[in-house]
Amino acid sequence: MASLAERAKYTVGWIAPMSLELTAGTAILQDRTLLPVVEDGTSYHAGRIGNHYVVMVVCPRIGASPASTAVTNMRRSFPNVKHILVVGIGGGMPYYGTNLQEQIVLGDVVVSVPQYREGGVAHYEFGAWVGKHEFSVSGHTLHPSSSLLTAVNNLRSAHMQKPGTRIPQILRELREGLIDSELPEFADPGSGSDHLFEDNYPHLDSIKFCEGFCDYSRSKRREDRGRKASRKQDTPFIHYGTIGSANALVISSEKRNELYHSHEIICIEMESAGVMGDNQGLVIRGICDYADSHKNKIWQKYAAATAAACAKEILLLVPTTEVPTAEAADHGVATRNANAHGGVGAGDISGGYNVGQVQTGFAHAFSAGSRDIVKTQVSP
Ligand SMILES: [Zn+2]
Repeated sequence: MASLAERAKYTVGWIAPMSLELTAGTAILQDRTLLPVVEDGTSYHAGRIGNHYVVMVVCPRIGASPASTAVTNMRRSFPNVKHILVVGIGGGMPYYGTNLQEQIVLGDVVVSVPQYREGGVAHYEFGAWVGKHEFSVSGHTLHPSSSLLTAVNNLRSAHMQKPGTRIPQILRELREGLIDSELPEFADPGSGSDHLFEDNYPHLDSIKFCEGFCDYSRSKRREDRGRKASRKQDTPFIHYGTIGSANALVISSEKRNELYHSHEIICIEMESAGVMGDNQGLVIRGICDYADSHKNKIWQKYAAATAAACAKEILLLVPTTEVPTAEAADHGVATRNANAHGGVGAGDISGGYNVGQVQTGFAHAFSAGSRDIVKTQVSP
């Protein structure tokens, strides 16, 4: 069992909603270890990303409530966790922005940032019916912390000055952390596997996958969707905006479009509402489907990998945090740099970003269901 002193150095908490998302996250950890905490009945995965000590937990089931419990337990057991990330997969809005000119394709990443009325995550099903057909949303969530938002803005600025993200390089490193049999599953399925069906052409059999069942002539391939849908292999785009979160899965293009028009939601998932009510975290989601009725799990693991890679790229722009050891805290004496033994390992890509350190105190301290119900959040 990991003692409190052992846990004191971890300052980043990473929530992985499902096992495939945990696999992608742990694959990028350096100096990886397992930290059982009996009080929580949970084994945490811990390690280092750049100079950050990171602790990861997988939720026992999908949905907001298990995610809320997971982050509450984590913050109690790892009292110096300062930055919270929710990293996983989600359904994407294929067209958004002015005149719907922006495009999200499968494998792209959406990062939660404040927009208009929303703080980054819209808890869109929490509120009151004020008429038979009128629903007033009042599910407020917190916006990400200033540290995380500053890192996101630095990343956006960097990408305006120099095109291209570090995601391709991080994906290569991530795959080194996987067993051989999993490598094809975490590979980029390619544009030929990305079909966007017409909104008025629903999937008609919840048991069958689209392949061999649905009429692909009723879909648009990426090549049909113009330059903004074009991506090189392992080079997803990062989109910034509102992520919608609720306990009900969206497998309807009609509902998806409605959520965009009512809340400007560009990505839909089922956990963040349970985390962002009390935590100023950041949500990072790889897009594995279009939140419509069509059934396709080809993109889930790759989307989990692109989200994890993006999370690492952002984290490398967050200043690391100094925490005292438990012994020092007991005696009120000198602090130790929590990352002093970590440094930046060979092959680590944090070089190039010059990120300083800040100091903080010590004391501030589903199994998934059937795809018949759940598509976006279920592992194969
Ligand atoms: Zn289909």
